[in-house]
Amino acid sequence: MTIDRTKLRWNGWGWSAHKDGLAAREDVWSWLASELGMPALLATPARPIEDIELPAARLSEPERDGFKKIVGAEHVRDDSFERAFHALGRSYHDLLRLRAGKLASAPELIVYPRATTEVLALLAYATENGIAVVPFGGGTSVVGGVSANAGRHKSVIALDLSRMETLTAADTRSRMATSEAGIYGPALEKALYAKGLTLGHYPQSFEFSTLGGWISHRGAGQGSNGYGRVEDWLLGVKLATPQGVLETKPFPASSAGPNLTELVIGSEGAFGVITEATFRVHPIPPVSDYRGYLFRSFESGVNAIRKAVQQDLAVTMLRLSDADETRYYRAFSAVGKEPALRDRLASAYLKARNFSQAACALIAGFEGDATSVARARDRFNLIAKGAGALPLGEGQGRRWREGRFHGPYLRDPMMDRGIGVDTLETATNWTGIPALYDAVSEALRTSIAATTPGANSRGIVMCHISHAYPDGASLYFTYIFPRALDDEIGQWKSIKTAATDAIVANGGTLSHHHGVGEDHVPWMEKEKGALGIDVLRAMKATLDPKGTLNPGKLIPSAD
Ligand SMILES: Cc1cc2nc3c(=O)[nH]c(=O)nc-3n(C[C@H](O)[C@H](O)[C@H](O)COP(=O)(O)OP(=O)(O)OC[C@H]3O[C@@H](n4cnc5c(N)ncnc54)[C@H](O)[C@@H]3O)c2cc1C
Repeated sequence: MTIDRTKLRWNGWGWSAHKDGLAAREDVWSWLASELGMPALLATPARPIEDIELPAARLSEPERDGFKKIVGAEHVRDDSFERAFHALGRSYHDLLRLRAGKLASAPELIVYPRATTEVLALLAYATENGIAVVPFGGGTSVVGGVSANAGRHKSVIALDLSRMETLTAADTRSRMATSEAGIYGPALEKALYAKGLTLGHYPQSFEFSTLGGWISHRGAGQGSNGYGRVEDWLLGVKLATPQGVLETKPFPASSAGPNLTELVIGSEGAFGVITEATFRVHPIPPVSDYRGYLFRSFESGVNAIRKAVQQDLAVTMLRLSDADETRYYRAFSAVGKEPALRDRLASAYLKARNFSQAACALIAGFEGDATSVARARDRFNLIAKGAGALPLGEGQGRRWREGRFHGPYLRDPMMDRGIGVDTLETATNWTGIPALYDAVSEALRTSIAATTPGANSRGIVMCHISHAYPDGASLYFTYIFPRALDDEIGQWKSIKTAATDAIVANGGTLSHHHGVGEDHVPWMEKEKGALGIDVLRAMKATLDPKGTLNPGKLIPSAD
């Protein structure tokens, strides 16, 4: 395995040994507490692994032996770390439960197959014995996609794909490659780089998520404008199901009826286990140019992105923060520092140029050969200039790139101090963006105010656009709030429900790239319609008639 799981946090983000400079900066956390109206920071440490409570085992010895016979005893685990690591994903809701250390459900066994044939045998054995199976990639789902839910089965196991991590083919001429699905992001890119290629799929969770997980949650990487979303790059898959293997062929295009690969994208382990995938790749871009701009308002930044994508500019990424995100990121990095002369001059210059508190930062990324990068950059400069934006240069882009995977490490120190932080995302067409933005922001602010303790406490609600299309864009909200320690799950649920209701009522999708999991199931029928849900149920009934795979995810129960 390319990643030693024992070196990862089972109840938080990333490497246990990772030391984040900000994590130890008490002045930063005290400043944040005052912004949130908290009288003081609260000590809310996580329970250590030795103290956690796990559900009792229900499988018999012969049943355990059955799994061991398929993959080998050394590839079946049941220690506390493994069970806790695989019990839930990495959403705020998951972290609350992991940190509390009282796990209502956890997989009884974690099995590590090495080949499609072993996956098929495991699924057949589990189905025959009434045991639920949760396919597990990196476990970074933020919608409850890997919750160890046994459903109506006697027990649940996690089927961990991380031993299936080989790049099996790369066709440079056709620009396509094939890999086993359990491969982590860095290992996949390393193997492709060795052949002069890249997939270019970099979700913020890149270091700890897998090819199979990206496909299953129908995700998008940070450079999706240039490299596409999963549905743009996935060509074919091998899906192991309790009924056998569904193999879809990687044609460049085909009119032989509906594309069955599409049925697998976003199937969240409920239809089968993706064991192998074939996808489009690109030559490694010789030039990467990331730079910052400051727009006068969110609206002018949104319009600039719309124009850029509608004019087909070859951009890799356009990421626009709203005024609150711009202000908070700036303030966050300035806490405890004496403003340098350069910063003071910059502030004075912005004031003189009439940039107000409504100013919004945008990072633009261009990748490719020197000519196409220069052309796209020049054209975007013109659009930005036309909107009265200020170019901030490459320094902003470089800093964003250097820190682009570090943000999630800040969740754990916040949670240690009584502060909650959660995210959600959606997408709609350009016409609907302003109303959706306003409605979700308002729902978040109101529900946070209603659920936070303390007379003066309040939330911080921030948003950015990071994926854009000719017809619309995504909206990604981050919200920070004082935790209601007497009812934390209730608080999470109230805020999530208010925001999701606002999304649905204002023409947004339940998710632009995080998926459905358990968390969005209650709203699925509103998005897909009753007939749409019947279609999904029919597919599930064909591929997994006994409901072995990932109970409770993706499809509302028919009961
Ligand atoms: C800090 C953070 C940042 C994130 N940023 C992004 C982002 O920028 N873009 C984005 O798209 N997502 C993002 N996510 C969400 C998450 O990382 C993605 O959904 C990712 O694709 C999950 O991959 P994984 O390997 O961790 O899958 P897992 O979490 O292990 O599984 C996800 C789902 O897929 C199923 N599954 C996993 N592997 C297989 C398989 N081989 N066959 C069948 N089913 C399988 C699981 O059962 C589950 O339902 C982020 C998450 C976090 C915590």
